[in-house]
Amino acid sequence: MKVGFLDLRAAYEALQPALEDAMLRALRSGYYIGGPEVAAFETSYAHYCGVDHCIGVANGLDALKLAFAALDIGPGDEVIVPSNTFIATWLAVSDCGAKCVPVEPDPRTYNIDPSRIAAAITSRTRAIVPVHLYGQPADLAPILELAETYGLPVVEDAAQAQGARYRGQRIGGHGTLCTWSFYPGKNLGALGDAGAITTNDAKLADRLRRLRNYGSPVRYQHVERGFNSRLDPVQAAALAVKLDHLDRWNERRVMIATRYQAAFSDTTLVLPFVPDDMAPVWHLYCVQHEQRDALRDHLYAAGVETLIHYPVPPHLQPAYADRGESEGSYPEVERIAKRILSLPIDPMMTDLQINHVIDAVLKAIGGLGDDQR
Ligand SMILES: *Cc1c(COP(=O)(O)O)cnc(C)c1O
Repeated sequence: MKVGFLDLRAAYEALQPALEDAMLRALRSGYYIGGPEVAAFETSYAHYCGVDHCIGVANGLDALKLAFAALDIGPGDEVIVPSNTFIATWLAVSDCGAKCVPVEPDPRTYNIDPSRIAAAITSRTRAIVPVHLYGQPADLAPILELAETYGLPVVEDAAQAQGARYRGQRIGGHGTLCTWSFYPGKNLGALGDAGAITTNDAKLADRLRRLRNYGSPVRYQHVERGFNSRLDPVQAAALAVKLDHLDRWNERRVMIATRYQAAFSDTTLVLPFVPDDMAPVWHLYCVQHEQRDALRDHLYAAGVETLIHYPVPPHLQPAYADRGESEGSYPEVERIAKRILSLPIDPMMTDLQINHVIDAVLKAIGGLGDDQR
């Protein structure tokens, strides 16, 4: 039996008639930028997240770039980012000319460790950017408290956390701005690139609406130098269809995670840790093992595709060679990068495929010998 990491075609086929109806409707509407499909999705997604405003943009990286632009962050400024994240979080900071100040993760949750943030704050710090990595909310309460103390905005990178809850409340409005990616592989994924920003701040929402559209509140009036980063109406129509299924698909991810946790609890795998405050949506199910690469090979041989999120942390990427950092600069994320492995947790997996992953993992671990840790 084969179990791919993520079957995007299966997700498409599960909703094919509704998706195709919606996309055709968008194409026939005569609106190819903005228009009713974009407005309808923005309203639905804001409602879903329990926030006042949703601004659709072209992708998740742009959502972050626009957020920093709306907060007037630029050259000479510092932004606190997780050392453990997808590189987009860092790229958006670099793009506006500011400097990334990495903070190491809590090794149990993989998310930014709030107790290490204060030490990273300087007179140049302009924002704190927690990432809700792998679908689990970052520990927001202490972060928001620090932000309040230092008068800093919080920009949440929620690209991996559509539908996740922190202390019972959906992610989307805890911080100053919350950025989203609807890249096809995310829990809520478009059929191409798409993104959004959510907020309860009406002034920032207004500014973001013009920043995404050439800095123009009214046609041919440009009150500031903006971007071209708009949510495609065809993607908005598809996203509106998929949004109705997000909770159901997230629940299936939770079910798979629950089965994995139970099946692997007595093994040498380090399993995901979920604090009481968090209701994760399991964008990824990440385990750790001392013999990660051997485990990965065994699983591949058994037909189970796995991935590594992420094999090289941002500070060790050639893209950031100019920072002059090296192995040892951020030991926590470097250790995670060597040991972490993502098992398939696709809501489209069949029960037989879930069983196969569990059997294959148990067998693979059994075959690795006794000195794994
Ligand atoms: C996917 C992702 C992004 C970027 O989203 P795109 O839509 O691909 O630009 C940003 N941050 C994180 C944490 C992501 O996982």
